[in-house]
This record gives sequence, structure tokens and C-alpha cells, in this order.
Amino acid sequence: MQPSNEPSFRESVDLMFNRAVALMDLPAGLEEKIRVCNATYTVRFGVRLRGKIHTFTGYRSVHSEHMEPVKGGIRYALGVNQDEVEALAALMTYKCALVEAPFGGSKGGLRIDPREYDEHELELITRRFAYELIKRDLINPAQNVPAPDMGTGEREMAWIADQYKRMNTTDINGVACVTGKPTHAGGIQGRTEATGRGVQYALHAFFRDEQGLQKAGLKGTLKDKRVIVQGLGNVGYHAAKFLSEEDGCKITAIIERDGAVHDEGGLDVQAIYEWIGKHGTITGFPGVTVEDNGAKLLEADCDILIPAALEGVINLENADRIKAPLIIEAANGPVTSGADGILRKKGTVIIPDMYANAGGVTVSYFEWVKNLSHIRFGRMGRRQEESRHQLIVDELERLDRHLGDSWSMTPDFKNRYLRGAGELELVRSGLDDTMSTAYQSMADVWHGRDDVDDLRTAAYLVSIEKVAASYRAKGL
Ligand code: GLU
Repeated sequence: MQPSNEPSFRESVDLMFNRAVALMDLPAGLEEKIRVCNATYTVRFGVRLRGKIHTFTGYRSVHSEHMEPVKGGIRYALGVNQDEVEALAALMTYKCALVEAPFGGSKGGLRIDPREYDEHELELITRRFAYELIKRDLINPAQNVPAPDMGTGEREMAWIADQYKRMNTTDINGVACVTGKPTHAGGIQGRTEATGRGVQYALHAFFRDEQGLQKAGLKGTLKDKRVIVQGLGNVGYHAAKFLSEEDGCKITAIIERDGAVHDEGGLDVQAIYEWIGKHGTITGFPGVTVEDNGAKLLEADCDILIPAALEGVINLENADRIKAPLIIEAANGPVTSGADGILRKKGTVIIPDMYANAGGVTVSYFEWVKNLSHIRFGRMGRRQEESRHQLIVDELERLDRHLGDSWSMTPDFKNRYLRGAGELELVRSGLDDTMSTAYQSMADVWHGRDDVDDLRTAAYLVSIEKVAASYRAKGL
């Protein structure tokens, strides 16, 4: 939640937008058209639970319809309000434009603490909320396609998809009305891990950028870099897991809602994740230093800080004391615009949210395309790819026999080469390509323009230019 002495989340996003458009030459009026949120629908509905009627408040905000459908998650949290969904919807517009997912921006939320309800109650509430949105085409495969966000996941998306099908029995593309579904209900492999995986690919792209590394005062590879993660939800967990298990990073601190753990030698992410799953809290995890005031650890010494929880956690109050030379915004809006100014002055490099956490919507795009094409990626080509590889392997084996001891295939080569790509490999390859292309487009502006000294402004410039081009093509 944004501190009260700072602009609201929505205003904070607008301030960052304004900084970028000041460097552009947009036609009069277009700047305003892009900035404003097109519409926000508020719904209050009742559900009978435990013998009495409970009234819930939900929102679906549409920021920009320069491309349709519009896209963005639905979050379940007590802090949900109109300002927040509008800020998040705006970020979705810029995020989709930056990674070239052909969508406008939207976001939804339900003001509820999901932990207070059992599964059956949550299903009743979700279906009723979905009903309200579906009947107004605020959930629709061609117009508005939600996805998971904080407090929601595969289970809620499956209920929403089923609700849509019940209300639109003849829509052959109905399953594309929402993404982030379980694989047995029209989902795609790799969607659950996608946002965390995208954070990892974003860091790979950053660590390939020598000039960027230099600006952050970092050297070398990700191996042994000390990383602090705030929030071990879906995004933080997958990012921390992949970075520690695959890239050799040391996760030196994990900060959760109700405490934090700290170990300079590196924490076991999987064990902590399982502990939280079992005990519902991070406190009590054995063998490490437990800190009650977790937020203090945001200020600890490290190489990379990954805020992966709420907006506004790095603000005017603590920005000065943040020591990390590199922050990657896995959450949406974790750094307020005031804090952004302080950190920029200090030379902290920030990989901005609209890029850093775009892995989720990128794989959502793949899922939506899969649903509309009614076929799994790789189904037609996999065997064909494998038999062409077999031809080469046969030929190499012939050579192997012919050359005797002087040459032979490495033992693992045959197995790895023969395997054609399945859906998960294709999803990861598409995500990696998307993240590195988008990074390059931001870095070209960051390093290439004298008037741009940070990645966030670069990201805004790239994405606003794309949104503006879309509007121009529409004749606006
Ligand atoms: N809720 C995610 C986000 O903030 C995913 C949105 C989507 O997949 O549409 O980007």
C-alpha cells in the first residue's frame, strides 16, 4: 500500500508516464488519450454464505483498447480499490506493448481476503463475480481476457472459464475467455512458472548487457550474486528457485508478510516454500536468522533486490537506505515515483515492472493463441522434427563407425538432439526470445539517448510509441 504522504499508485504511474512523454513529440491530445483510463466498472453483488448474505465489491478496469481483447489479471485482496486497479490496468497497457503481446490493458480485483473462505465458498463468490463481468462482456475471448494475479490462480481461472461456457454454450472459442487455466482445462504448460521464469530471463538479458552492468557497478555472471527476495508467492518463489537452482545465485534473505529469514550463506528456497505451505508462516523455519521486522531486510547489503509482493514497498521513507545496486521489479509498482527519483540519483539501476514481470502475460498470450487454434503447440511438427534429426544422427553414426577411435559422438548428444521440442520447451523458448527482444529495445534507448538515464523511462518510451502508432493507424 502506498504511504499516505505520497501520490496514490495511479498518480505514481502517471508521474512516471509524464516523465517519459515529456521526451516525446506526441500530437496534442494523444498523450492525454493514452494516459487516461477508458472505463472502470464497479460491481457489488451478494452471495449467501453460512446462512446470511455477504456483499462483495469488485472492479474491472479497462485502460486502453487500442488493441482488443484487453488483458490483465484479477486479484483477490482486501486492499483492492479503484485507484489500484486503474494503476495496474495502465501498467498492463504498457507491458503488453513492450513485449508485443497484441492486447490492450485491463485489470480486475475483488475486495476479499481469500484465506477467510473455504474452497466451495470461493467457487460461489468467483462464479458470481464472473457472471457479473461476463454479462457485460468484461470477460470475453474477443474483448477482455483475465488471468491470475495476487490471491488467484489456476483454480479460479478454471471456474471462470466454466462459468463463461455455461453462459455461452455455442461459443467455440469460449475457453480463450481467460488464461492461466490448469492444463487439463485448456491451459498451457509453463504458465504457472511464467512470471518467475520471465524475471530469470530478464536478469539473463541484463547480465549480457555490459554497459548496463557497468551502470549498476556489477561484474561477471549471476553465479554467487547475493539476492534478496520480498514475497514468496508464485512469482517470488519461481524467480528465487530458478535463480538459485539454475544460475547459482545465493538467496541471502526472503521477506514475507509476517517475518523474514536471512542467511549470507544462501537459503534453501524449496524448503522454505514447503515450510510456508505447511505452517502458513515463515516464522519458525529452523536453522536461520529470523527477523520480525522483515521490511528492514529490504535495506540489507546485496547485489540484487527482487520485490515480488505489493506495490509501494520502496517509498520515500526507505528509498535512501536501499543498498542494492540493482532492483528488479517482479511485483507491479513496488517502487513509488518519489522513491524512483531518489534511487535514480543514487545510481541504482531498476529493471522496471512493465518489463520484469511481463513473462506472465507473454505466456498468457501463447495460451490464448493455443485456445483459438484448438491445437497444442508442437503437435503437428514434433515427429517430423525428430525424424529429420534421426537422419543426421544415422549419418553421424555411420561416420563414427568409419572413423573408429579418432572421433565419436559425446554420449549425451544423441538423446538430447533426437528429442523434438514439446509444448513446455516451445513456451520457454518463446518467452526467452520475447524477454531478450524487449530488453534490447529498452537498452537501445537507455544507452543510445543522452536524455534518458534509466530503464523505466526507456521502457515507457518504447511502449508509448507503440501504443501511439496503433492509435495513429486507427486514424486518431
Ligand atoms: N496478472 C499478471 C500481470 O500482472 C498476468 C496478466 C495476464 O496474464 O493477462 O501481468
